[in-house]
Amino acid sequence: AAKSSGKACYRVFDETMRERAELHMQLEEQLNVAIERDELVIAYQPIVSLTSGQLDGVEALIRWQHPDYGLIMPDRFIPIAEESDLIIQIESWVLDRACQQWVDWQKNLGDKAPKCVHVNLSRKQLLLPEMVQRVADVLAKYRMPPGSLHLEVTESMIMEEMETGIAKLKELRQLGVRIDMDDFGTGHSSLSCLHEFPIDVLKVDRSFVANLKNVKDYAALLEAVLVLADNLGLKVVAEGIETKEQLVLLQSLDCELGQGYFFAKPLFAEDLENFVHDFHQRIGNKTERVTVGG
Ligand code: C2E
Ligand code: MG
Ligand code: MG
Ligand code: MG
Repeated sequence: AAKSSGKACYRVFDETMRERAELHMQLEEQLNVAIERDELVIAYQPIVSLTSGQLDGVEALIRWQHPDYGLIMPDRFIPIAEESDLIIQIESWVLDRACQQWVDWQKNLGDKAPKCVHVNLSRKQLLLPEMVQRVADVLAKYRMPPGSLHLEVTESMIMEEMETGIAKLKELRQLGVRIDMDDFGTGHSSLSCLHEFPIDVLKVDRSFVANLKNVKDYAALLEAVLVLADNLGLKVVAEGIETKEQLVLLQSLDCELGQGYFFAKPLFAEDLENFVHDFHQRIGNKTERVTVGG
């Protein structure tokens, strides 16, 4: 009996694996035509100044509006796209659209427009020989000031091919584009490596923010990171701020910028436009610091 149930178990496992592989293949096939079918959409998440409560920038986050499965999040399909050159095609599309959108917003939203747009890169895209030229072409196409484009890379992307990665980032920065280190604290780079990376912004991973309250060491760690970033002339964005409590802690540590559901979820362009109209009213109250004993 034990043997047969073991067998049954194995079969169930086997079928799930097969189903998964089938879904994977199906998604890969459909992803191939998703761009031409206009199924990819970008959501924009506000990045907020924790001192002034003003909108600083937005991060472009891709979604796939699938005809059968509904909205698919990037964690589901970006890894599939990364297995082939599909990722290059998708990211070139995101880069183009995000820059076009940013320029449109400068015209339509005036001083309420985000100051910059952040675009995520994959390792493949970063190491693509024509990458720098492509970025230069998009900036020229939309006459976008390079300093308003932030490209987000992760530690592991740079660590895997240190020399090439660093060289690429330097070239990009020579265009005037800013480089963000995304999900900082989850990779394997050490703090002592940080000064070698040609970057402008540290985006501290949301796991740090989530643990701030419960694990005392995290506040000390974050404080050390903030001091180091300051010494290296880097700006810091705290990711994943979900509660007022986390915000207050981050403000007490003089963290400059933040992003998270507490302020806003990623929003489609039209919703973001509505949101920015009373942005300061909505966010200003939230970021206002309570003066203790005042
Ligand atoms: P990421 O770049 O670290 O983006 C932040 C993710 O955290 C987003 O998930 C965002 O919705 C989520 N987030 C923001 N605030 C909060 C919060 O307060 N709490 C929680 N729990 N989550 C929060 P999303 O949009 O699902 O994106 C996931 C990842 O997919 C991104 O992580 C990024 O690595 C990747 N991705 C998205 N768009 C692109 C793209 O165009 N190219 C590439 N290569 N990767 C992308
Ligand atoms: Mg990112
Ligand atoms: Mg991130
Ligand atoms: Mg993150």
